[in-house]
Amino acid sequence: MKTLVVGGAGYIGSVVTRLLLAEGHQVTVLDDLSTGHADTVPAEARLVTGDIAEATKVLAEGGFDAVLHFAAKSLVGESVVNPSLYWRTNVIGSRALLDAITEHHIPRLVFSSTAAVYGEPDQVPITEDFPTRPTNAYGATKLAVDMMITNECTATDLAAVSLRYFNVAGAAYGVGERHTTETHLIPIALDAVAGKRDKLTIYGDDWSTPDGTPLRDYVHVADLARAHVLALTAAEPGEHLICNLGNGNGFSVLEVMKTVEKVTGLPMPHTVGPRRMGDPARLVASAARAQQRLGWLPEHDLTTMVADAWAFSHPDLAGTGE
Ligand code: UDP
Repeated sequence: MKTLVVGGAGYIGSVVTRLLLAEGHQVTVLDDLSTGHADTVPAEARLVTGDIAEATKVLAEGGFDAVLHFAAKSLVGESVVNPSLYWRTNVIGSRALLDAITEHHIPRLVFSSTAAVYGEPDQVPITEDFPTRPTNAYGATKLAVDMMITNECTATDLAAVSLRYFNVAGAAYGVGERHTTETHLIPIALDAVAGKRDKLTIYGDDWSTPDGTPLRDYVHVADLARAHVLALTAAEPGEHLICNLGNGNGFSVLEVMKTVEKVTGLPMPHTVGPRRMGDPARLVASAARAQQRLGWLPEHDLTTMVADAWAFSHPDLAGTGE
């Protein structure tokens, strides 16, 4: 297929780009490089540096079979303190992209949605028909885009798949997380054991979970990428298919810390701080629909995710643990 990957210079988009190329697809990446890196876009892909609003120009070239849309602001904490940035970037940007997709009759769309649309679920595992009650602007903006996509699929023949990511981790094809301001647990924990930061702060240990720290469902970026390629052909024209992407297993912050210590063989300096605004206690996916509709089963466990992230972020130290 001839594909346009919007936001393809970021962590997940650039892993998906590599997998698309490996499977024989043609890839144009559109990225404004606000958080992505030009050097993560492989030479076999064409890079167009520009805002999402430029998508219409690229799609006007003709012949595109699918758009994969990753471009978004994606930090929960930042979205709580700066909602305007999230609504403008995520929703207005996606609206422009959807208009371009309709104008140029692109038949397929795969969208990066998120577990944050579910907010604080009453129970886990979370299926796609759970109520959507986001507790932060990040989740609210992704839900708004999901709703726009549903409306677009009803009005046109667009075949769209929203993939609701749980916690993505690990590295693949030499690409891992390289955020300027890192907020995610696994990269922060790896920096803490490596001595690159003083310590890890646990955001609250008084949650209503078995060990008092929040539960998350971690999924390897290589598994996640495979789901995108499968999603390209999963929806019927006029259908908006929504699939959760997770392993179906919840790990607490303390369990992740123990895995990091085991993989690296290094002790974790840590402290307990207050809860982070917008954090839910538990986010664990039911992966049943993804298995049924995409034929997707995640293959990598938490230890592999941590080991791959460790080899990517601290190649000098990797190999010291188990
Ligand atoms: N977390 C933490 N300390 C940190 C970063 C994260 O305790 O320095 C916790 C956070 O409260 C959440 C889990 O780790 O329960 C995963 O957070 P992350 O930011 O990686 O992903 P999120 O679930 O927010 O998308």
